[in-house]
Amino acid sequence: MSTKDEIAGKTREPGINTRLAHIGNNPRDFYGYVNPPVVRASTILYPDYATMRDRAQKYNYGIGGTPTTQALMDALTELESAAGTILVPSGLAAISVPVMAFAEAGIHMLVLDSLYSPNREFCDLVVSRLGIEIEYFSPDIGEGLAKLMRPNTGILMLEAPGSNSFEMCDIPLLSQIAHQYNKDCVVMMDNTWGTPLYFKPLDHGVDVSIHALTKYPSGHADILMGGVSANATHFRRLRKASGAMGMCVGGDDAYLILRGLRTMAMRLRHHEKSTMQICKWLLDHDQVSRVMYPALPDDPGYQLWQRDFSGASGLFSFVIPDKTPDQCAEFLNALQIFGLGYSWAGYESLAVMADFSDRKMCHGPEEGTTIRIQVGVEDVEDLMEDLSRGFSAVAKT
Ligand SMILES: *Cc1c(COP(=O)(O)O)cnc(C)c1O
Repeated sequence: MSTKDEIAGKTREPGINTRLAHIGNNPRDFYGYVNPPVVRASTILYPDYATMRDRAQKYNYGIGGTPTTQALMDALTELESAAGTILVPSGLAAISVPVMAFAEAGIHMLVLDSLYSPNREFCDLVVSRLGIEIEYFSPDIGEGLAKLMRPNTGILMLEAPGSNSFEMCDIPLLSQIAHQYNKDCVVMMDNTWGTPLYFKPLDHGVDVSIHALTKYPSGHADILMGGVSANATHFRRLRKASGAMGMCVGGDDAYLILRGLRTMAMRLRHHEKSTMQICKWLLDHDQVSRVMYPALPDDPGYQLWQRDFSGASGLFSFVIPDKTPDQCAEFLNALQIFGLGYSWAGYESLAVMADFSDRKMCHGPEEGTTIRIQVGVEDVEDLMEDLSRGFSAVAKT
């Protein structure tokens, strides 16, 4: 079975675990093997000159894709209900490639202030040099976005929840305002936290959905890759620009991302359940002043999250009050299960100190130091015991 084939006699739409188990390749395309072959390719041979001249075969050159990368692109396109998907070498490239695809000298670009920091660095360092004016706005802007829209506003860059501080923004409202004031404005959203399982940007007015496949789709901290899915109006230009910039990924990595997708819903449920348990425990902890996670009913973003998202992933922050980053270094140094490392969404738990110094508006909590936690698949009691080691250590400072 492939989910591209209708299931005869089905009485319901297949659930997410069923879909994840069967999207992408059709086993019948390759002798019935359950998984697609890993194809490594630059050159693809043509049977004769006429086929070559007319490029009259499905695959023409390695950069355009292989049966392995196509299986992954098809899977992501289906999950996002998109017109198509491109694959790029990292999550950061999944930001830079669509921006370059739609960037034009003279446009104005509106960018969320609580964005993933390297996205902001790309805007400030590269995009701003192209004759594009970058303007940042606060995640709670709501209807106020209308006042910032200009006839030349060409790109609106969104992310929800915000990086490290986890504020929600109203994605459907902001997308609608952008298109209402300028129908050609391209609305882009970094949807890495939600994954297409918990939020589908294109169903909420976004044109281009950005993913670090490095995170949950990989799930094992061993691959860097990005995916960009777009609606019918924008996919052609995105794919052409990506090809023109020489973007592609290797078959081995694409195969492993597809393999990760098969178990992603189960992994996410586990990450979510453990994260909720840890967050509730932290809320009651006397060394914690605040937990930032939109799935908590008292979180300022809860209403928007509840309305638009169908789940929450395993990344959140909390604040240790009245302690400096130097003091909180002892918290991090005392951890034995949580690793100190960047990135997230792998099977292993991680902790980092959050830094909001590059922001214009969302400076983060002022009462103490913010720690960002990635909850892995370890047993949650062990994770809480580990965090307790951290609290004991920081209490002595
Ligand atoms: C990690 C991350 C990226 C970048 O992914 P890389 O593959 O590490 O380049 C982009 N956006 C968000 C929200 C991320 O967390």
